[in-house]
Amino acid sequence: MESNLYCIGCGVKLQSENEQAKGYIPSSAIGRENALCRRCFQLRHYNKNEEVTLEDEDFLHMVSEINKTDSLVVHVVDLFDIEGTLLQSLHRIVGNQSIILMANKVDLLPKSTNSTKLIHWIRKKSKEAGLKIEEVLLISASTGLGIEEAAMTMEEKREGKDIYVVGVTNVGKSTFINQLIERSLGEKESITTSYFPGTTLGFISIPLDENTALIDTPGIVNQQQIAHYVSQEDLKIITPKKEVKSRIYQLNNKQTLFIGGLVQMDFVKGERQSFVCFFSNGLPIHRTKLEKAEELFANQQGSLLAPPNQTSPALLPAFTKQSYRITEPYTDIVIAGLGWITVLNGEATIDIRCPKGVSVHLRPSVHRK
Ligand code: GDP
Repeated sequence: MESNLYCIGCGVKLQSENEQAKGYIPSSAIGRENALCRRCFQLRHYNKNEEVTLEDEDFLHMVSEINKTDSLVVHVVDLFDIEGTLLQSLHRIVGNQSIILMANKVDLLPKSTNSTKLIHWIRKKSKEAGLKIEEVLLISASTGLGIEEAAMTMEEKREGKDIYVVGVTNVGKSTFINQLIERSLGEKESITTSYFPGTTLGFISIPLDENTALIDTPGIVNQQQIAHYVSQEDLKIITPKKEVKSRIYQLNNKQTLFIGGLVQMDFVKGERQSFVCFFSNGLPIHRTKLEKAEELFANQQGSLLAPPNQTSPALLPAFTKQSYRITEPYTDIVIAGLGWITVLNGEATIDIRCPKGVSVHLRPSVHRK
């Protein structure tokens, strides 16, 4: 049956007559909201299911494949979790190929963000992780912001070579690739994806022209991410869905902020000043006196201090404490995978308690003064 409906993935007209032809969708699915043609459905579905760890044999096999090629590597990372999503071992994986970093989810950043400072910090982090990055681009795969420039840069930098897209799970790699496919379909009639030969992982190969392709690789699991320590329900709360709004607290020393029941920030020493919190809008923040903090945490983690909810604190690793001496005004304390707190005046001693393994870093604030 021909329809007047179009696939939301690639824009092709949907039909359920010919399984081999483009736009095929089983007739049972044709009336559904957000219908996808079978190819896009599989593409999305596949990306959801395929995950590997850096130690998987199949993955190492794939690695050696990329290493042998001459190609461009596009590494997608999550702006809210740079530490958790930058692949420290990327050069071991891809050798000396050129790397472009797509820092995704820019739509979630507050309007006050200074892109130049943010890019500068990402470059610094990449360098610390041992990565040689040619280009850092801020994009939003879901809204399409920056995708045009990303596509142009990729075309320019690939110099006629294949492109490999790599990333940790949940950074938005599938969303990004779907955006690219959607866009290029404006120019080309249809794009057929196929599995990359020679590996059981079944990378998806999307032709760019007669000889070259964009190759989607499996999502890599990084166990260090906070996302793996909380329940699915809690993950929904801590993951920002909309632009993050700043929440400002004037604190005296010996006061504490709890970010849900996941982070405890003690303002140990320093003059009264503002702390600006940037976390998912649905994640509650509580202020208390430092002397009461320990008791409050012991009694209320999982209820007043949530997430984690009642059942999930058990998923969390033990909390560890780290002290920070802040000397510069406008310093961000970044808690990977959650958000950050901007300390406005500087000159403060701060203790951060959070689950072991979650990385905490200081950076010059990425917000405009
Ligand atoms: P993958 O595992 O890397 O392929 O990630 P997905 O493409 O499946 O995306 C993971 C989650 O992040 C999904 O809930 C997406 O809707 C969301 N997401 C992807 N890109 C963006 C983005 O640019 N902005 C926002 N706010 N969310 C995004």
